Formats: sequence, C-alpha cells, structure tokens
Amino acid sequence: MTKNARRILIFLSGAALIGGLTYANREALLHRAFERAVDKGIGRDVVASLDPKDIHVGFCGTGSPLPSRDRASACTAVWVGGKLFIFDAGEGAGETLSLMGLPLGKTEGVFLTHLHSDHFEGLGPLALQRWAGASAATPLPLFGPAGTNQIAQGLMLAYGPDSKFRMAHHGPKVVPPSGFGYVAKEIAPGVVYDAAGIRITAFPVHHDPVTPAFGYRLDWQGKSVTISGDTAKSDTLAHMAKGTDLLVHEVLNRDMVQSMADAAARHGQPNRAKIFRDIQGYHASPVEAGEVAAKAGAKMLAFTHIVPSVPKAMTGLVIAGADHAYKGPIRAMRDGDMLSINGKDAPAYRNLLD
Ligand SMILES: [Zn+2]
Ligand SMILES: [Zn+2]
Repeated sequence: MTKNARRILIFLSGAALIGGLTYANREALLHRAFERAVDKGIGRDVVASLDPKDIHVGFCGTGSPLPSRDRASACTAVWVGGKLFIFDAGEGAGETLSLMGLPLGKTEGVFLTHLHSDHFEGLGPLALQRWAGASAATPLPLFGPAGTNQIAQGLMLAYGPDSKFRMAHHGPKVVPPSGFGYVAKEIAPGVVYDAAGIRITAFPVHHDPVTPAFGYRLDWQGKSVTISGDTAKSDTLAHMAKGTDLLVHEVLNRDMVQSMADAAARHGQPNRAKIFRDIQGYHASPVEAGEVAAKAGAKMLAFTHIVPSVPKAMTGLVIAGADHAYKGPIRAMRDGDMLSINGKDAPAYRNLLD
C-alpha cells in the first residue's frame, strides 16, 4: 500500500467512525427530546392555567361535513365552574379535546344541536377517551332532540365488543363497567340543565328539513355564551342571544359554495352540484350572522362550522362582509382555539394546540 492509499484509508475509517458516532448521538438526542416531550405532555395541566372566574370556550371542531385535514367536525366545549360541557361531537372531536388537554373526566354532558351526522360522529371516540382515559364510573350524559336515544343505543351496540376487550385487559378499576356508554335524554326547548348556578337553555333554530334543530345558551354568574348550532338566519337566535358575551355562529359563504356547484356541473357531476346548491339554503351567510350578532347586541362574534373549509390564509374570504353588519370583534375560529370570557373585557384568545 502506498503512503497515499494508507492516508485515504485512515481518513475514510475516521469519517465512518465519526459518522457512526454522530448517528448514535442523533438517536440519543432524539430519544432525550422524546422523553422530555412525553413528560411535558403527560404532566400538562391546562385547567390550572384557566381562571376559575371565567367561562372558557374551546373550539374542538370548526369544520363541516366537507372533508378537511385542518378541521375536526362540529364541536364547541365550555369549561365553567370546574365542569366541562360539550356542544356537538363531530368526527375528530374527542381526539381534538384530548389534544387540547381539556379534562374529559369532568364532562357534565354532551349537548347535540341536531342529528346531522357531522355533529355526532365523534361520540364513540369521545366516550371511549372519557371512559378509559379518565376512568369514568358513570355513562356519558347525552342531551339532544328526538332520535338521540337511538344514536346512543346504536353506539352502545357497535362498541359492545370493544368495551369487553378494554375491561378484560385493564380491569374494572381502570375501566369501570358502570362507565360504559351513554344516558340519553331527549329534550325540548327550554332550560335543559340547571345546577351549581350554571344554566343551559335550548331553543329552536332554522335548519329544515332537519327538525328539531337547537341552539344553546349557557349562563353563569352574569356571563354567557350562545351557540347557534346549524341554522339559516334566525330571529329566535338573535332574541335568545340578547346581550351575550360571545355568539358562536356557523357560517357558509354562498358565492364560494356556488362556485363549487358550478365547478361540479362543469365537470359532469350534477348530483354533487345539487348538494352544493341545496346546502346554501339552510346555513347563514357571514352578513346574516353579523346581522344576528348586531340585533342581539352580542359582545363578540366567533365563526365556526366554516363552509367551505379553506386553508387558514383564505378564511377571511369566507367571512367577508360580516363586519359590515356587526361592529364588534369578529374572529374565524381554528381547531384548538380558546376564548375566555371574564364579562368585562373582550374575550381573551389563545390556541391550545399551537
Ligand atoms: Zn353541520
Ligand atoms: Zn346540519
């Protein structure tokens, strides 16, 4: 071997050794980062960071039935007085609530606005996360219009085999048999929950042919939040939201959805085009939602159930015009967002997933 060849060989083995060491080191570094993230994630206490005097409104699903990678389907959670109230549980709601760090074990009830599937498809995973994740010893209270019991019974049937595996695997202390499933309560408009000073009132909104369809208002210590559910422009909603601190309203931009209908028609998809035309009638435009907020004298307007589901940068387009009708603060919500109502200032904003 020449001197030069020897030098090259030494250099190459040195490089290989350094490369190997760096790689092993990289794994160790990643492992340490993982350990730190696990410790932080599992030890996270979101509730400790929430002022107990405020009403905290979490957005656990801001999407609609139109598929979206960014938005779970309908879900709004209210943390108040140490209790969690969940309004609708569309697909992805349970996972989003868990990622947000809200304590599912403290759920007082899930309140369905209506029985479109994008408002209840997330119930199965949500009930499982609460039951197995928080060792709930009582079934999940489920409030909603006529038909809610059928959904509860159907889900319990569907999750029957899974529940047996969980109980056999983890034992009754961790997964108490008494905590499986739901207790359904079919409700009519009026006060549907009244305890510890927290009052929830259901009222009818317009979402024909889906009847009944409800909105909800939650009141506590002079503060309130009102949730529209799915509705075309509704005077009842404006009346029920009178003076509310926060109006959470659905929204559909008709021009944009009409463009989708036109595109479907152009591409030989008449059935899809019809659906895009049909849905325009039973949702509210941004201007109509703004008018409702103005008539109610709501202190803030937050948009959810955003149709069409566009990337964040384009959300402003969907809600364009709302500010002509309503002069208070307006925000298009994202999954993980939280608005905290103290009754004096405009609700404080943060995102629990960022
Ligand atoms: Zn919907
Ligand atoms: Zn609907």
